[in-house]
Amino acid sequence: MSKYIFVTGGVVSSLGKGICAASLGRLLIERGLRVTIQKLDPYINVDPGTMNPAQHGEVFVTQDGCETDLDIGHYERFLDVDFDHNCNYTSGKIYSSIIAKERRGEFLGATIQVVPHVTSEIKNCMKSASREDIDVVIIEIGGTVGDIEGLAFLEAIRQFERELKVGNYLHIHCTLVPYLESAGEVKTKPTQHSVKELTSLGLNPDIIVCRTGKNIELSDHNKRKIAMFCNLDEPECVIHNPDCSSIYEVPLVLNRQGLDHIVCQKLGLPLGNINLSNWKNMVDTINSDLPTVNIAIVGKYTEVPDSYISVTEAIKHAALKNRYKAHIDIISSEDLEVMPAKDILKNYNGIVVPGGFGSRGIEGKILTAKYCRENKVPYLGLCLGMQVAVIEFARDVMGLKDANSTEFDPNTANPVIHIMNEQKFIQDKGATMRLGNYKCHLLDGTLARRLYGMPNIIERHRHRYEFNNNYADSFVKNGLTISGINDDKNLVEIIEYKDHPFFVASQFHPEFKSRPYKPHPLFVGFVTQAIGNIKKTKIN
Ligand code: GLN
Repeated sequence: MSKYIFVTGGVVSSLGKGICAASLGRLLIERGLRVTIQKLDPYINVDPGTMNPAQHGEVFVTQDGCETDLDIGHYERFLDVDFDHNCNYTSGKIYSSIIAKERRGEFLGATIQVVPHVTSEIKNCMKSASREDIDVVIIEIGGTVGDIEGLAFLEAIRQFERELKVGNYLHIHCTLVPYLESAGEVKTKPTQHSVKELTSLGLNPDIIVCRTGKNIELSDHNKRKIAMFCNLDEPECVIHNPDCSSIYEVPLVLNRQGLDHIVCQKLGLPLGNINLSNWKNMVDTINSDLPTVNIAIVGKYTEVPDSYISVTEAIKHAALKNRYKAHIDIISSEDLEVMPAKDILKNYNGIVVPGGFGSRGIEGKILTAKYCRENKVPYLGLCLGMQVAVIEFARDVMGLKDANSTEFDPNTANPVIHIMNEQKFIQDKGATMRLGNYKCHLLDGTLARRLYGMPNIIERHRHRYEFNNNYADSFVKNGLTISGINDDKNLVEIIEYKDHPFFVASQFHPEFKSRPYKPHPLFVGFVTQAIGNIKKTKIN
């Protein structure tokens, strides 16, 4: 059976538990271990698919079409593993499964209770991650210790630890250690309180990861204090996790303090050699004095930067490949509806219109596509970003003034983007989404084909509306290139414009497959052209 590492958080949310879990995963992989990660989210939604990204950040889509928490994106980028539906469970998903069993009579008349029924279901989720070919399962619990929703999860861990037996599991607790300006020192009390809360639930952390602000010291004295008050074996089990300029620095910071070493020792895992030179080179490049390329993401969810986290990461990966730093601004497309596009966008070397749902700000996105097409500014459209480009082209090049997607105008006379299965959609919106991996054939002679360097690709999807093939001939006649097709369903997957330095838009989401070491070809193509555009942008 695999060994388990439970990661919980205390004091405040947004501590970077996900980055910490992903970083540890990376370090263990670098030590030659086989690792998987699971995120258990105590909220009641069945999955984050219906949640507003402005509240919860991006919805990350796995290859098998599961809508998951954005931390899964961090796991995939840090571990370079494609996860599946088994990587993310929520209270909603767990309760749905229990209630379905209850309705089928599977509990044989028992009263269904949080303990043991919900906790057993949670344990089953955790156990399902254990496999012959996996040495370590890392389980991150969403939320903060003390949340009412999280109680069943912590109780499930308590029970599961008893089943696993000492030596086969480890508990890492992440906390915030604030620096009090007036006192001129860091305070360990919130950490002590958080651990007290955990202990009252029968859980004892083995390692505490203390988050602090940048350049804040966590002295040996404080480490000893935390270790003593929180019942840790030794001060070395207190790991300092200060704010870093890049998230990719975190594995190095944790490794320098011996986190992976302690974990392997405590779990009795082989201490294989670790060579972080590639990772270190990457971080050194990120932190070096690189020139900047300015990219705008013209979107809708501007309140929380995490709403487009995979897109921003993919841009940064592609910039890094070019030895550039990407400065990224997220701009509300609604601004373009009240101000000239040029005034807002003129300082950007390249523009991305990402995915989105609903009509708010849609005309601003269409104006963005027009601005990029007419001014030859590099444009990368992602899902909705392709649909608005198609609408814009139909309106301005083909003269179909009322062209639209039926998502935004169900009665348009020219539905250039439409829904394939209208009837099914009325009955159940969820059932009509195209989610996860689909094949795409790239046509010879296209830019997309050249960028990928191969004729057949697989990419992840999350959308309901499609390019309307009834207009395909007319689009092509007017100069739009259809560069990728899903042959099975005859669906348009990528479009591009000739006589433009870079105007490429895909119906799929390439951002989910970009990795720091392996930037995505479409993003590389886009950022390379944006860099080429820097001089021109300056003259303007
Ligand atoms: N709203 C559009 C659709 O459902 C685009 C979705 C997206 O960008 N992810 O097709």
